[in-house]
Amino acid sequence: MDSRIKPPMGHDNAWWWQMAEEGKLGIQRCRGCQSLRHPPRPMCGQCHSLDWDAVEASGKGTICSYTVLRHPQFPGYEYPLIIILVDLEEGTRVTSQLVGCTPEDVDFDLPVEMLIQEDPDGFKLPVFKLAEFA
Ligand SMILES: [Zn+2]
Repeated sequence: MDSRIKPPMGHDNAWWWQMAEEGKLGIQRCRGCQSLRHPPRPMCGQCHSLDWDAVEASGKGTICSYTVLRHPQFPGYEYPLIIILVDLEEGTRVTSQLVGCTPEDVDFDLPVEMLIQEDPDGFKLPVFKLAEFA
């Protein structure tokens, strides 16, 4: 299988991918007002502070919204691709991929858990799977 297209990494987001490399789902946190934000960006939308740090998310959340991509198909991905918007329990949202199930299994409000998917070339990406029902 071909390699996935790599995300552009710069000053504002390379730290997030470094956390993914370490198996963590990062969330940016404003040092001014403590609000969480994703995707990473330089300025807080709440208080306009440029000062921030990062916290590690638990990786637990629920499906807020989703879509199923069938076309166009890019190399490095298996289709259909289930893209989800996750309400993380920390209170912010991330867009990611749902793996290990079919589009028929997906629904709103289902609990999900983050896992790290490692490509054959070693690239690591946080994705989600449906949480096991205990
Ligand atoms: Zn702020």
